[in-house]
Amino acid sequence: MEQLHRDIIRRHTQASAAALLFSVLFSISYLFGLTPLALHELIFLLMSYWCVHGFLLYLVISGRSKRYQDPSLMIPFMLAGISFITLMLINSDVLRPVWTMAYLAVMPFGVFRLSWKEYLCICLFVLACYSGVLSYFHVYELSVWSLEMELLAGLAFLACIMAYTVIGKEFSILRDAYRQKNRELRRALVKIEELAITDELTGLFNRRYLLKMLDKQQALSNREGLPFVLAFVDIDHFKQINDIHGHRVGDQVLTELSLLLKDAVREVDVAARYGGEEFVLLLSGVNLDAGRTALERIRMQVSEQRYTDMNIPLTVSVGVVEHHLNEGAEVMLNRADRLLYEAKRGGRNRVKAEPQELSLFSEEAL
Ligand code: GH3
Ligand code: MG
Ligand code: MG
Repeated sequence: MEQLHRDIIRRHTQASAAALLFSVLFSISYLFGLTPLALHELIFLLMSYWCVHGFLLYLVISGRSKRYQDPSLMIPFMLAGISFITLMLINSDVLRPVWTMAYLAVMPFGVFRLSWKEYLCICLFVLACYSGVLSYFHVYELSVWSLEMELLAGLAFLACIMAYTVIGKEFSILRDAYRQKNRELRRALVKIEELAITDELTGLFNRRYLLKMLDKQQALSNREGLPFVLAFVDIDHFKQINDIHGHRVGDQVLTELSLLLKDAVREVDVAARYGGEEFVLLLSGVNLDAGRTALERIRMQVSEQRYTDMNIPLTVSVGVVEHHLNEGAEVMLNRADRLLYEAKRGGRNRVKAEPQELSLFSEEAL
């Protein structure tokens, strides 16, 4: 169950406990003869309220209320509670101060969920109900209260409701600020997480993320026998590009090549900048044969493209290895690095893979 739903249910459990308490108090007032209601009328009143409350509670607990803007259904709950209290008031004039307190017990539950305008409407509804009750007693001349008492009690009640409205507004401001901060923090966290794994210049994954993914791939490969290959890709004579065109153009070449590498691998693969003008590709679910073919294709693509406005040609040398059972990340990287060195020595612009028989998952080895 998600946290929000748990919070809503917790709050409704508290509200239901308060409603139950006032229902019991109302029943006790009947036992003491403090309400003109007959027993069947009392039962009908209580049943009607609890049917509505129970139905709303069912919608919330079952999760059916999630499709509504406020899944806690706070407004219907409060309206039902306030209507019930109003009926209690009408049926027990001597106990009016007690049931008036019940109004005030309902109000705090709206503070956390309602906007301040909704909260103001609820306050006005309470005032309207209370005025309705007073009018009812006045019209039928049922009140046991003197006019002065009535006036003082009414003003005190108005003051309480106004205080609640102010508090409701304050809470609403605090809650909005808190939500806004929360949203900003979440966005910042996403950004930080992104920055922590991204190479600033090229936008590829950085070395830290690569090593993490390499560990993951190796664990998966060791456990489930899923093959994968690692390729070291190094730009040939990159220093010359910097020397001839300047460091800024060199940076642009690195960025454009990175885009090419990113596009050349699948979503499940990892293309990372290992450092300087060296890149590492992790191709998952691929054996050495398929890996070498893919890298050969990428090498061709690199050499066919021209870079920056100056149409600079570029070639790369590549060392490709397939994962060996239970080998560490460093061992695998060193093997690929050695092959890259061989590719450089062999004349550059080439892919050098380890001899087939060393490949654990290659078809020849199987
Ligand atoms: P080789 O074919 O043997 O790999 O030759 P190379 O010139 O590519 O290799 P070398 O290691 O001699 O030079 C790499 C150059 O890459 C040197 C360094 O200035 C440059 N470099 C490293 N990082 C960056 C960077 O972020 N931006 C730019 N513009 N150049 C960089
Ligand atoms: Mg180089
Ligand atoms: Mg290098």
